[in-house]
Amino acid sequence: MSLPRGFKANAEREAARVRKEMGLPGNAAVDIEQVAEHLQMKVVSADRLIDIERLYELERIQAFAFSAATFEIEGRFFIVSNPIRTPGRLASDIAHEVAHRLLDHQLSEVREIDGIPFRTCKPDEEEQATAFGGTLLLPRPLLTAAAYRGWGPDEIAKQYNVTVEMARYRYNATGVARQVKARSV
Ligand SMILES: [Zn+2]
Repeated sequence: MSLPRGFKANAEREAARVRKEMGLPGNAAVDIEQVAEHLQMKVVSADRLIDIERLYELERIQAFAFSAATFEIEGRFFIVSNPIRTPGRLASDIAHEVAHRLLDHQLSEVREIDGIPFRTCKPDEEEQATAFGGTLLLPRPLLTAAAYRGWGPDEIAKQYNVTVEMARYRYNATGVARQVKARSV
């Protein structure tokens, strides 16, 4: 599967727009929960809704079955996140949900796992939400600045509290390492 034409550039523009609206420079790190709130979405940790033991139980039944999910209740949007994830993974999951909303994806499919309903989107929309969410967390200007400091994916993950997978994905997708190398010769 591939992203639609112009998708990446649009994601970068949106990441820049959100930062500008929040009064932040284009290369700033963001707290994704604050971004969600800025966009009128409230992040609620799932252990405030159900016993945390049930979340561990679900994890044992199917690992990573529940990352985060968006619910619309009386016109308000809530992102329910999974507190048993690492902070980096939590950021990716929340960014993914924020991206669905910014991309205006419909909450359609409902799957049930152990009696708990989950909404999922279409596979192409899932890919888009992950790419867009990654751009919100790590936009090109931020990665370029990091690459100039000589930081690779591991250092970026540590500095910006994202997963190494996410840092590597964005680092490679944007080609910032090549860009920085080309300018310094
Ligand atoms: Zn999704």
